[in-house]
Amino acid sequence: MSSRGITAREIAGIAEALATSCRRLHARGLLAGAEGNCSVRLADGSMLITASGIDKATIGPQHVLRRHADGGEYHNDGASGVPRDTVAGDSGLRPSSEMQMHCALYAERSDVMAVVHAHPPAATGFATAGRAIPADVLPEVPVVVGPVALVPYGRPGTSALPDAIRPFAAHHEVFLLANHGVTAVGRSLVDAMTRMESVEQAARILVVAELLGGARVLPEGEPAALAALRPLPSAASPVPISAPLVSSTDVLS
Ligand SMILES: [Zn+2]
Repeated sequence: MSSRGITAREIAGIAEALATSCRRLHARGLLAGAEGNCSVRLADGSMLITASGIDKATIGPQHVLRRHADGGEYHNDGASGVPRDTVAGDSGLRPSSEMQMHCALYAERSDVMAVVHAHPPAATGFATAGRAIPADVLPEVPVVVGPVALVPYGRPGTSALPDAIRPFAAHHEVFLLANHGVTAVGRSLVDAMTRMESVEQAARILVVAELLGGARVLPEGEPAALAALRPLPSAASPVPISAPLVSSTDVLS
């Protein structure tokens, strides 16, 4: 991980992007009220994460906190002008109650630079029913969403949730959390957001197809051919801080 300095301007831009992403998730009905949380890992290993209990309809960059990779309080050295522990002021905000899930995913995946957690109704419905998202029906699933894990229930806000998700971290990009919601990771915030929106779109289509008599699968060999189009994660080359919003999942766009 690079140890080069991160400017206050860069941090402010990422905090704004996190808030914008949360408002977008709310506007699209992928979470309600204060549900959900998002984070971005910075090049120095620390992270920016949304605060707990903030209405995602009106969240702003002032509701984003900076923490160490293990979730500990970040003590700013004053060099960048960023106030201690928070991005936009010493507000007394607490980080998301799911911060340890974010920490676990960053610890397990050196290529992951962003984590998005929401409660999208259709995909969470699959998680709640214990149903996997099939990879042989819609091209976006093997190409954009990637492998989807069915994670056993772990009580939200406790260590049970990171403990449940950790065994699946190495080989999945999207995690259906039983009786809870969905978490998506990516090499950028756009990557993670795209996966969150795409898995929910796929879940909605699959439910409609089921109502109409059942989905027909792709031609034989097509899912594997599509999966080969998917950009491979590279554990050795995390996305630099200067390009946190560049998507690598635009093959089908
Ligand atoms: Zn949740």
